[in-house]
Amino acid sequence: MPLSLQIYNTYTHQKEKFEPLVPGFLGMYVCGPTVYGDTHLGHLRSAITFDIIYRYFLHKGYKVRYVKNITDVGHLTDELNETGEDKLQKKARLEQLEPMEIAQKYTYQYERIMEVMNVLPPSIAPRATGHIIEQIEFIQKIIDAGFAYVVNGSVYFDVAKYADTGNYGILSGRKLEEMLAGAGEERRELKEQDEKRNPADFALWKKAPEEHIMKWNSPWGVGFPGWHIECSAMSSKYLGQTFDIHGGGMDLVFPHHEAEIAQSHAGHNCIPARYWIHNNMLTINGQKMAKSLGNFITVDEFITGKHLLLEKAYSPMTMRFFMLQAHYRSTLDFSNQALQAAEKGLERLLEGYLFFMSVIPSESNNAVSMEEIKELEKKCYQAIEDDFNTPVLIAHLYSGLDLRTALTHHNKTIDESTLSALQNLYKSFLIDILGIKMEEKINTAQTELLHQLIDEILNLRYEVRLQKNFAKSDEIRDRMLKLGIEIKDTKDGSTWKWKG
Ligand code: ZN
Repeated sequence: MPLSLQIYNTYTHQKEKFEPLVPGFLGMYVCGPTVYGDTHLGHLRSAITFDIIYRYFLHKGYKVRYVKNITDVGHLTDELNETGEDKLQKKARLEQLEPMEIAQKYTYQYERIMEVMNVLPPSIAPRATGHIIEQIEFIQKIIDAGFAYVVNGSVYFDVAKYADTGNYGILSGRKLEEMLAGAGEERRELKEQDEKRNPADFALWKKAPEEHIMKWNSPWGVGFPGWHIECSAMSSKYLGQTFDIHGGGMDLVFPHHEAEIAQSHAGHNCIPARYWIHNNMLTINGQKMAKSLGNFITVDEFITGKHLLLEKAYSPMTMRFFMLQAHYRSTLDFSNQALQAAEKGLERLLEGYLFFMSVIPSESNNAVSMEEIKELEKKCYQAIEDDFNTPVLIAHLYSGLDLRTALTHHNKTIDESTLSALQNLYKSFLIDILGIKMEEKINTAQTELLHQLIDEILNLRYEVRLQKNFAKSDEIRDRMLKLGIEIKDTKDGSTWKWKG
């Protein structure tokens, strides 16, 4: 079936029919993680949103070049004022590591989590620090075009001059005058601000203070790139000056993506991407996720259940399925109740899938018709092609489970070709496009066995104690402690827990 995809384009503020720049090919750039901390739900939602888009184009036979960058320099602690320490450098100082060790550690964690979440790796994952030369070249183009100026070893983008072209705020809807009106309250009085001709200007290159360790030579002196320029430099390097899709979280619309568009207009005289896709944010029990609120839960904590707010551990596929039950442009609220409902729902869907895969075809007068399957397939395509509406797609996959009931309880049969169409449908949508994979239950089984074994040892130790062999009982306790198992004796018997 040809593609008749509708995408909500933030750039035009409406749903539009997708037309690729080159038929059969897709170029997609997505802003990836800043690698200085644990992978959290925000990372995951963005990753899964664009994974579905990537998977769908692959499913339709497109040749896709998917670029997702790794930000390992230029993201400062005070984003609004573009001052403070580099986030990686600060973390490196706190953990007494090299900034590159921090980048490596959290990149590895991110990639590991993406793999367990069944998020396909991008075609290219370029690092900002690996593209300093490209960033310098891009900045030079912007200076040459007259849209940037050099002050005291730093380079700033001239927003007022760019606004005269009429393109400023095209993505975010912000107006320069409003920005400036708010600037007085929002922006603190800072020395660096004085360098800017206009408070709305943003840094392309910053002069590095003496103590700054992440710095490079440039035509303007020793310094480091601003946050926004890396995406312009790397997207144009790998996808060309204009490509099909640019994505990221909604929090990146302003200033980050607005700045990327400005840089491309100034340096290349064109818009970098034709379709701008943004996923919405998420909340936990109705609250914004924040370290200060104590509800900042990392993905690892969800998988292990090790967080005060979690009633239990949730499997990676439960998390993935839960996220897909909401449209990517809706906010999504995490709660134990909702996750447990998703867990049950996914189990039902997977049971149905396994059932369909194991049905033995046969012919009769009371058979499932090919039309029924074709109708279901059409609805599934309509859902995914309507701006990647995964919740509606999932609802159709549930409704298809009625066929299972028909086959098991109503003496219906299904012939070989109809069955194969049904199997293909579930495999395409559930496994290939939604990216759900069968999880091995072996881990839970092993954990249960381990608990039983520890209980057995406690029982044996109890017998030793009844014989008043306390030396032996203490020895068992100490040996268990060495293995990380803490035994506590109470008057009602012994309990154990993992050593904290
Ligand atoms: Zn970016």
